[in-house]
Amino acid sequence: MSFMVNRVLIIGLGLIGGSLAKALKKKQFANVIVGYDRNSDDVQTGLDLSIIDEGSHHLADAVKVADIIVLAVPVKATEAVLFDLKPYLQAHTVITDVGSTKSNVIAAAQNVFGSIPCNFIPGHPIAGSEKSGVASADDTLFAKHKVILTPLPESDKSATSLIARMWQCTGAEVLQMDIERHDEVLAATSHLPHLLAFSLVDTLAKEQDSTEIFRYAAGGFRDFTRIAASDPTMWHDVCLANRQQILSQIDNFTDGLAVLREAIVKGDSQSMLGVFTRAKSAREHFSKMLSGTAYSQPHHNSQVTFFVRSAASLQGRIRVPGDKSMSHRAVMIGALAEGVTHLSGFLESEDSLATVQAFRDMGVVIEGPHQGRVKIYGVGLHGLYQPPGPLYLGNSGTSMRLLSGLLAGQSFDTELLGDESLSNRPMERVAEPLRKMGASISTSKNGGAPVSIKGHQKLFAIDYEMPVASAQVKSGLLLAGLYAKGETRIRQGAITRDHTERMLKNFGVELSTVNGVISMASGQTLKATNLDIPADISSAAFFIVAAAINPGSDLVIEQVGVNPSRSGILDIMKLMGADISLNNSTTHNGEPVADVHVRYSPLNGIVIPEKLVSVAIDEFPVILVAAAAANGVTCLTGVGELRYKESDRIEAMQQGLLRMGIDVVVKGDDIFITGGELRGASISSYDDHRITMAFAIAGTIAKEEVMIEACSHVATSFPEFVEVAQKAGIRIHKEKANVSS
Ligand code: NAP
Repeated sequence: MSFMVNRVLIIGLGLIGGSLAKALKKKQFANVIVGYDRNSDDVQTGLDLSIIDEGSHHLADAVKVADIIVLAVPVKATEAVLFDLKPYLQAHTVITDVGSTKSNVIAAAQNVFGSIPCNFIPGHPIAGSEKSGVASADDTLFAKHKVILTPLPESDKSATSLIARMWQCTGAEVLQMDIERHDEVLAATSHLPHLLAFSLVDTLAKEQDSTEIFRYAAGGFRDFTRIAASDPTMWHDVCLANRQQILSQIDNFTDGLAVLREAIVKGDSQSMLGVFTRAKSAREHFSKMLSGTAYSQPHHNSQVTFFVRSAASLQGRIRVPGDKSMSHRAVMIGALAEGVTHLSGFLESEDSLATVQAFRDMGVVIEGPHQGRVKIYGVGLHGLYQPPGPLYLGNSGTSMRLLSGLLAGQSFDTELLGDESLSNRPMERVAEPLRKMGASISTSKNGGAPVSIKGHQKLFAIDYEMPVASAQVKSGLLLAGLYAKGETRIRQGAITRDHTERMLKNFGVELSTVNGVISMASGQTLKATNLDIPADISSAAFFIVAAAINPGSDLVIEQVGVNPSRSGILDIMKLMGADISLNNSTTHNGEPVADVHVRYSPLNGIVIPEKLVSVAIDEFPVILVAAAAANGVTCLTGVGELRYKESDRIEAMQQGLLRMGIDVVVKGDDIFITGGELRGASISSYDDHRITMAFAIAGTIAKEEVMIEACSHVATSFPEFVEVAQKAGIRIHKEKANVSS
């Protein structure tokens, strides 16, 4: 069936009908936009304001020649209008409506036609205003708003796409839903809030001193009750039309309010804060989702480009954000502890916030983060609740691998989801040993996310020899080990970061590491503590290299975590000839911390010792930039693991450095770089935060400008990278790219 849109007839020329007519006329969706209303004054206003091309005073005449009929009358009037137009309806005419409820519109059509015509496509624009009437018509009302179509299984597909096309022409986003789901979702998200606003204003208005109350009502009251100015007749109709769904939402809300009331009666701060922090974070989560900036959204929706020009030198003192690995672990272990844990120096990045959100979803009350401070109300080893849906972990491999272990020991099922990059990273390396412990865990066909974990499994401790050096796998097994019967033993070939071991000890867990073998008995209780998280050496690494390769630089990076299982970058850079010293050395919660002082000094190519690979694994992108700036050849061998990070980092670095004129040879998992002069280039970030930042540092010594595309992933570990880099003297700026989603 094909449709030539000649005439669109809008019945009911009020706010919605008038706005649709105006938008369709402006976009020339049809040859003629015709308006009909029971009130002829409205038709005249529509003509006077050029909202419609033609006005009709005879429904029959207008219906006979219409290609599309839009019912924009109150839902209660639907049946009467359909009855009036039925005798004149042509076979090819497509009918749609705009009613706020859908079950009753379908019932009306059923009553009039006996069965639902295949050309009847119900719809609902999720846009409106407290105003009504044609004089308020606004042709931008639907732009960037959603319109839900609720076609039936028997509906004609081309009729559905014609109506979808009509709404898209107004700038709306068109979705489809089934009728029951529509009425359920709208009862919760639109009908209940309107009723609460009406009820609150009505309740306060009945108070004796209501004039006084309203006089002092602040912005919050005004914002919350704005919708109480909506059309009473329309809302009366909506309440009757969607009675069951609205009643069930009112009951839900009443139960929630009763819980809050009880908490206030008892002075139960934890429950109150629980409600408020969960609501606050859920609200922020929704806002971010809607604006496309959350970790739950693909980052390319809000893409930025970095531009870097050669730096004069890096000077002064800077601070980089808190350690990412420790931030994740502190939230996880704090949540499992008994009592309240206070964190400072927490990294507020997309990745660590994904972990915070996951624990909030499992019922843990977490206040903050606010300027790096977080307060976690621990629930004990067995106090987590089943989350309401899958846990979305964005780009964070640490969250997914560690949580796989932690959740294997719970009494509920969970599913872990990630973004596209995380979904392609190997999860079997943690799933496989967890199964040996008795966990029931499955991964996708390619061994990645979604990861599904069944609850109620009895875990028993294993003695496990790690085939791959991975701190995440080790940590996942230790967290599962807290729930396993017996003593968990993990034998590691190469040293990997040991923050989990140190942090568990901070929370009172007895655990030993002897000759690379970690042993931990189960059945231990974790006790809340206070932790000061040092600056992340992986973020400091970019500035360590930048200062080392830019002549005249003299830079101090304050209070960096220099745990020997992480400080391989310092050893490698020193072997290359860098001038690095550590000052103000101290220990925070068992973690060594120091100011890292770097001065420029010419670098030489080296063979990077194999034993330093696992303790500098995340820093290789920027170490390879140092190699590009050094005299001679640098060899880095046996780093196949780099292919499984947020991107294939061997490929990403090779391609980028080649574009900048550097000689890079890759043989299997070995890389050989001959230092030289870097030239300007346009570089792909491979959607990888560390690749992006590494090339920003390469840009500081390039002859021409370096442009790095798709840089928003930097927020996964170092949201203020550009600002900190500018402070240190790097000539970098970012620009928003116009990328459509
Ligand atoms: P409105 O401004 O009051 O417009 C409704 C128009 O329909 C009025 O001009 C009304 O005339 C006319 N009308 C009533 N019964 C009629 C009949 N039997 N035959 C012909 N015309 C008739 O209302 P609206 O806000 O546009 O709402 C219209 C529809 O849109 C409703 O179904 C509502 O559920 C839906 N909707 C509204 C919003 C919103 O925020 N307003 C949002 C989404 C969907 P009178 O003035 O003589 O009554």
